[in-house]
Amino acid sequence: MLKKYWIIILVSILLLAGFALTLLTSYFVAYKSLGEEIRQNSLPLTSDNIYAEMQKDLVLSIHISSLMAHDTFVRDWVIDGEHDPERMSRYLQEIQEKYETITAFFVSEESKKYYHPEGVLKKVSEDDPHDEWYFRARRMNSSYEINIDTDTADQSRMTIFINYQVYGYNNDLIGVTGVGLELKQVQDILKTYQDKYNSSVFFVNDSGKVTLSADDFQIPENIHNWENFSTKALSILTSPGTSFEYKTDDHRFYVSSRFIPEFDLILLILKNSENLHERLIARLKFNFAVGLLITLTVVGLVAFIMRNNNQRLERLANIDTLTGAKNREVFSVIFSQMAKENKRKKSPVSLILLDIDHFKSLNDRMGHHSGDTALKKFSRIVSETIRESDVLCRWGGEEFVVLLRECPLEEAEKVTEKIRKAVAGNPIHLGTESINMTVSAGVTQYRPGEPLSRLIERADSLMYQAKKEGRDCVVSENHVRFS
Ligand code: GH3
Ligand code: MG
Ligand code: MG
Repeated sequence: MLKKYWIIILVSILLLAGFALTLLTSYFVAYKSLGEEIRQNSLPLTSDNIYAEMQKDLVLSIHISSLMAHDTFVRDWVIDGEHDPERMSRYLQEIQEKYETITAFFVSEESKKYYHPEGVLKKVSEDDPHDEWYFRARRMNSSYEINIDTDTADQSRMTIFINYQVYGYNNDLIGVTGVGLELKQVQDILKTYQDKYNSSVFFVNDSGKVTLSADDFQIPENIHNWENFSTKALSILTSPGTSFEYKTDDHRFYVSSRFIPEFDLILLILKNSENLHERLIARLKFNFAVGLLITLTVVGLVAFIMRNNNQRLERLANIDTLTGAKNREVFSVIFSQMAKENKRKKSPVSLILLDIDHFKSLNDRMGHHSGDTALKKFSRIVSETIRESDVLCRWGGEEFVVLLRECPLEEAEKVTEKIRKAVAGNPIHLGTESINMTVSAGVTQYRPGEPLSRLIERADSLMYQAKKEGRDCVVSENHVRFS
């Protein structure tokens, strides 16, 4: 079985292996190039976009702070000696309400007083770490900074401050003013970025602590504590502006980092490659299914063609192409099979030898081609007369033998006579002529153990007797004679 179908099995294996190899290669190539594309282009672009959008989203607050820093009321009031603090508080209250910020402040360089919508909160001091922001802001080169800090008015609340330097008319620093935005607002902004770019977006400070993230994003507090991340964390903190692939035991991410000078924080964007992986796997599965279908079709086709060819070859090898009767070789095989079975079953088997009468003269008169036609017709008549289990063989030239299984001699005699009559009663039409063909036959019963040659010999001598007795006649071993 395996031997017979080895070509089909081999073709299937080759096709499937070919498909699998091509698909897997293309999967890995696609995965690598898409990953590379995300890492090299799409993530840095996202990072640029987010940076630009954050700047845009914070620009209004920066603008308000700038207005405050350039407001002549603020400057005049400070230069005039900060009399009537109520006026400053009212001003700050006005700003806070009008622009819906959570705080507005002014810190005077002269008095170090921290003015707030509710009044003077405190005096800033260089010794107080909470006030460190002021001494940094007053010294900075740019006119403003964005700083994330706890609110001086409410220590429990993280706030984003715009610290804007205020200058007098002689260009001397007279204080720092600005507004504070609730962190929640920024978190919401981050959330919209996350949804928009389908990535996690958050900020870490220079020690790796996650300081700003969308509130629904659960990540360990410090990037140093991430699984397999410590060396990456170090490279992010020492030289931000990188992008790389990061693998945990269960996940694979693409990471991009950049330093945001306004915040003094590092922006991190994390994109889970699962989506990409899933998409590619889905495509791989689909392509494999198509490959499987093609393989099955090709294999089915090969099998069909092979089966047809084999059948044709088998048929060609077993039959006489002119008459369709079995040839001698296959008849010998069938006989041997019968002889073996007969040892056990002992059922009677008979054999008829048929020889067309005066066939040579038919050939001579009508031509070889007509002779062939007559042979075909003869074979058909005999086939139609015998049982399906009987075996008709073209023994050679115009001689045929019929092997009749489970058929005693008397039965075989009757069959032979039927053949003789059928042949004689069916003239052959060749062109305009109608030829009456006759046949002479010898019938004999198989004797257990005798070889085929012997059986044929006996039948042949009976047939020869029939010829002698005038042809168109049947002679049986029982000395019965029909004509
Ligand atoms: P008899 O009645 O004594 O059998 O006479 P016969 O002419 O049939 O005897 P013989 O055996 O001498 O002739 C057989 C002829 O059959 C000789 C040969 O040319 C012809 N023959 C054998 N095979 C074929 C064949 O395949 N096609 C054709 N057309 N003729 C064949
Ligand atoms: Mg002959
Ligand atoms: Mg003959």
